[in-house]
Amino acid sequence: KVRVRFAPSPTGGLHLGGVRTVLFNYLFAKQHNGTFVLRIEDTDQTRYVEGAEQYILDCLKWCGLHPDESPVTGGPFAPYRQSERKALYREYAERLVAQGHAYYAFDTPAELEQKRKEIPNFQYGLAHRNEMRNSVSLSEHEVDALLDAHAPHVIRIKIPEDEQISFNDMIRGAVSFDTNLVDDKVLLKADGMPTYHLAVVVDDFLMKITHAFRGEEWLPSAPVHLLLWKYLGWQAQMPQWAHLPLILKPDGHGKLSKRDGARLGFPVYAMNWYDAKSDELTPGFRELGFLPEAFINLLGTLGWNDGTDQELFTIDELIEKFSIDRVSKAGAKFDFEKAKWFNAEWIKRSSAESLAPKVKTVLEDKGIIVTDDAYLLTVIDTIKDRVVLLPDFYQQSAYFFAVPAEYDINSVKPKWTDAKTDFFNALAETYKAAPIWQPAELEATFKALAEEKALKIGDVMLPLRIMLVGGKFGPHVYDIATLLGQDETVKRIGLALE
Ligand code: GLU
Repeated sequence: KVRVRFAPSPTGGLHLGGVRTVLFNYLFAKQHNGTFVLRIEDTDQTRYVEGAEQYILDCLKWCGLHPDESPVTGGPFAPYRQSERKALYREYAERLVAQGHAYYAFDTPAELEQKRKEIPNFQYGLAHRNEMRNSVSLSEHEVDALLDAHAPHVIRIKIPEDEQISFNDMIRGAVSFDTNLVDDKVLLKADGMPTYHLAVVVDDFLMKITHAFRGEEWLPSAPVHLLLWKYLGWQAQMPQWAHLPLILKPDGHGKLSKRDGARLGFPVYAMNWYDAKSDELTPGFRELGFLPEAFINLLGTLGWNDGTDQELFTIDELIEKFSIDRVSKAGAKFDFEKAKWFNAEWIKRSSAESLAPKVKTVLEDKGIIVTDDAYLLTVIDTIKDRVVLLPDFYQQSAYFFAVPAEYDINSVKPKWTDAKTDFFNALAETYKAAPIWQPAELEATFKALAEEKALKIGDVMLPLRIMLVGGKFGPHVYDIATLLGQDETVKRIGLALE
């Protein structure tokens, strides 16, 4: 039975890469009728950020990627927050010490600091292990005395010398590491908390995780994890790993970072993230007006395709078509223009009913209170093909709810004539008396009148649009008039002529 996990550390908001990791885990789980677990890896108290866990939960909710087991839903392997599992990790660390695969290290922070100053690029491991104060370098007697005196200590893994460690990554194939380049990572800290390395292995084992999808940045940690799986005797149960390719800057040079978003003017976070410490607000896709369906679709195609030209996928299609073989090894460039294209396409595909609550919020924020829901639905259907981001609904539809606040006078004024004033006075009269209020009839009346007054249609079309809309945009002008209604259309022509 497939069991996957998303295991974020609550250190801040979730960015694109994080949500894509969630998505690939989720797709794989759903495709195999498996279980998607959310586990909060909060053992590093120094990096813990208030509000980050709630943000992650809200974000998964907005994206519609609901975990089957989590700190909130619970589940058979609860608790799902590592800080609440603190007591169970020590036993495994001690077991490794007893077996000789790990050791106690008594070095004080000051001693470590000193060593780092003396030796450039100091690594606690093979080369310097014996110069440090630990249960490898000290005598058994000295170690016992320190332990009896409750001297603060950590437990470190003892990385073996001259070994090649390898595994088969689902995306990259065979990957191997030279142990001489790996340092003796801390497994258990002086306060009894496990580090990420110990906790991730213990919990993936206890929670019976079968497949682990995580960002490529974790690849360098893999040898430590592989050794732990082996030393703890769990190798047969080790999950299959897939290290997902990086999401790159638009120019392809390096990993996309939070700074890039700020520098280039686009979001990299799923939702607004407010960091209280720095009093900094990082904008999110949600608040900028992305639909979750579009956000998921664009993430699903960052580093994956189905082998055809298809780019638009619903979540169900992604679940059906996703395959790890088609995830690319190379990083995927992020293109914000493309991201906006996905959103525009998703707005076109969405029903007016599903958009209505969101559009209402956009309009309300601008002081427009919608009272007629049926009218709103028709307005949405009339303009949604012109909208890229949800807030565009205001600019594209405000004139349906109120007389334009401004008129683009300059586009008509220079060519204005008395003949045109005469035409529009006559048009207002004709429209006021029109028995049928439909686009075809309005158009026919308009054209007949222009002909009668010996004016070119082209010369009076734009002025009508400016009178109704305020600017040079929007759908067909007769559709606009139809929707505005007879009274309102006549009123606006009159107002403009004043
Ligand atoms: N806690 C790690 C993170 O913050 C999880 C890495 C993993 O999936 O093993 O990304």
